[in-house]
Amino acid sequence: MREFLKTLKDDYRVLEIDNEVSTYLQICEIMRRYPRDTLIFQNIKETEMNIVSGICNTREKIARSIGVEVPGITKRIVEATEHPISIENYQDAKNFFEISKNPDLKEVPVPTYYKKDGGPYITAGVIIAKDPDTGVRNASIHRMLVLGEDRLTPRIVPRHLFTYHQRAESNDEPLEIAIAIGIHPATLLATTTSVSIATDELEVANNFHNGEMGLVKCETVDLEVPECEILLEGKILAHERAEEGPFVDLTDTYDVVRHEPVIQLQKVHYRENAIYHAIMPAGNEHKLLQGLPQEPRIFQAVQNTVPTVKNVVLTEGGCCWLHAAVSIQKQTQGDGKNVIMAALAAHPSLKHCVVVDEDVDVFDSEDLEYAMATRVKGDEDIIIVPLARGSSLDPCAALDGTTTKVGIDATKLLDKEEKFERVSQSL
Ligand code: MN
Repeated sequence: MREFLKTLKDDYRVLEIDNEVSTYLQICEIMRRYPRDTLIFQNIKETEMNIVSGICNTREKIARSIGVEVPGITKRIVEATEHPISIENYQDAKNFFEISKNPDLKEVPVPTYYKKDGGPYITAGVIIAKDPDTGVRNASIHRMLVLGEDRLTPRIVPRHLFTYHQRAESNDEPLEIAIAIGIHPATLLATTTSVSIATDELEVANNFHNGEMGLVKCETVDLEVPECEILLEGKILAHERAEEGPFVDLTDTYDVVRHEPVIQLQKVHYRENAIYHAIMPAGNEHKLLQGLPQEPRIFQAVQNTVPTVKNVVLTEGGCCWLHAAVSIQKQTQGDGKNVIMAALAAHPSLKHCVVVDEDVDVFDSEDLEYAMATRVKGDEDIIIVPLARGSSLDPCAALDGTTTKVGIDATKLLDKEEKFERVSQSL
């Protein structure tokens, strides 16, 4: 992450904040004021460590971290998830980290973002574990509520890590884990891709790093982690649960309180002058990291139906989760409607989908509105699907998980194309 921070300082706005700020609410208050900048807090009231936020809070920064331009992000993610690269370089934690000690989370500047939050939350922590049955490694990002100096409770959605823990727990065993905080944004992005349970997300990350990624061997658990600022080693206990939440989710609304597993830490490692990475809930960094890796799934599904698809974006205004904008080179009347059906089916959380022609910039919300204003006739171009399964994050969803999906075909009529010609663009 340190190397990438240097790149950011050269080409993007990085604000260094020297006045004393508290991890309790104050940090978040400042983060909200600078949604697209990188912030470095150099004077934290509670700890010696510094905080960085916003290392990947724009599509431009994410594109830079994986070596492409913004419209190329989707293809690059597809390439990496389809071709994971095994990792050969390893070093020991004792050599990589300057400081190793018994856990005390009071030394780590974990912010409390909002008053009603369940407590301080780690938001950029990647949990690494191995499948107790197959040995396949998993790396996934989880929010984690700090319960005490050596205890955390993570939110674990029913995916790979959930399965690993279930498998360990069915034998009354804890699951060894390591938590890496302060890692390269390309590695973070890889941990949020929807690869199969047999694929190691760190090998996807290694593709992003062109096969040159090295890993650090933990001291007290049989696991390897990406190079990071802070490494926590421990286990997810068997048969123990704690209250997790409330916490703000992607939609900037409170998620419910659940009973989630408990992590017991046994060892921590810090780099000298370690920088803690904090991701503000519902900020751009959170939205992009969670939403971007879903765009390739939609792209591929749409491509099966309409091969002339140009771009798929889960827009920031739609929380990078509920709204998709798809651009196509329309070839036959009705293409727009087929795209809507494919996109809504590909990403079950998707609620609204707008389809536009290739002359509309899907990254520009004003351009999308232009297309809806000039190319939509409500009775013909809007598809409404009531009672479809939706996102648990959608505040409008019914208790049974259903919601109403809407598709908007904002493409030109092929037989009247001259009526839709954008004069300023055709000069
Ligand atoms: Mn996995």
